[in-house]
Amino acid sequence: MPPPSETHPTRGGSPVPAERPDMNEVVGRDDLLLLTLDTLRYDVAVELAAAGRLPNLTAHLPGGTWEKRHAPGSFTYASHQAMFAGFLPTPATPGPHPRLFAARFAGSETTADGTFVFDSPDLVSGLAAHGYRTVCVGGVGFFNKQGALGDVLPGLFQESHWEPEFSVASPTSFEAQVARAEKTVSELPADQRLFLFVNASALHQPNWFHLPGATKDAGDSLSTHAAALEYVDRHVGRLFTAMSSRRRCFAIVCSDHGTAYGDDGYTGHRLAHESVWTVPYGHFFLEPPA
Ligand SMILES: [Zn+2]
Repeated sequence: MPPPSETHPTRGGSPVPAERPDMNEVVGRDDLLLLTLDTLRYDVAVELAAAGRLPNLTAHLPGGTWEKRHAPGSFTYASHQAMFAGFLPTPATPGPHPRLFAARFAGSETTADGTFVFDSPDLVSGLAAHGYRTVCVGGVGFFNKQGALGDVLPGLFQESHWEPEFSVASPTSFEAQVARAEKTVSELPADQRLFLFVNASALHQPNWFHLPGATKDAGDSLSTHAAALEYVDRHVGRLFTAMSSRRRCFAIVCSDHGTAYGDDGYTGHRLAHESVWTVPYGHFFLEPPA
């Protein structure tokens, strides 16, 4: 029996159903992709999707749009520690909301029939225990493997990659990350299941260089943030193609937290403001070539 799907209240004019697959069937059968679009704001993501400016992402997002969720943390380290413990962004409606993944935890009210329950302290090692090759392609500083703190999150994975070209300062960060992911996939034995995590750094400041005509002096803005998301969309199809080249892939694409551009006087993140705690989320299957 598949678990019942959740139906969310009206959002932007039409109800958007969020199918919740039985993760106990998915894990062990499919490859898995977790793509965090670091710092992406929900309002910008929804606006661009509605305007047809994210054709490659909306082709896969259920209902062609993003689900509104609450971030589990207000900055990269906190949010990813939570996600890797099984706490993905929470639907922004009163719960409880069953989770896709959860550590075995007595009394958990969000562990349901379709929840994949792991016995290790984090999802990454939990998937490794189920035969997955776990690979991290890092982006922002918490994944740069430079210094003790920059090793913590990549250190959860069997294999991790970070290059200066993947960083927030690189105008071609996502292309370089996707190329690394393609290489990883191409080198795996055919029967090896893969959990690939990619932390896309393009949205994180600085992002002004993604908007033609913008200048460093003028700095980042909602417009340059939007341009960075369009940049990611232009290249994300290659990542989806690689991840579904061997078998079906279950993909989760979300932001880890938003960021403020002067909203109510706030700038940046690691603070509690709606622009930070509201994030876009989507999950879907990528089908292999027929
Ligand atoms: Zn972040």
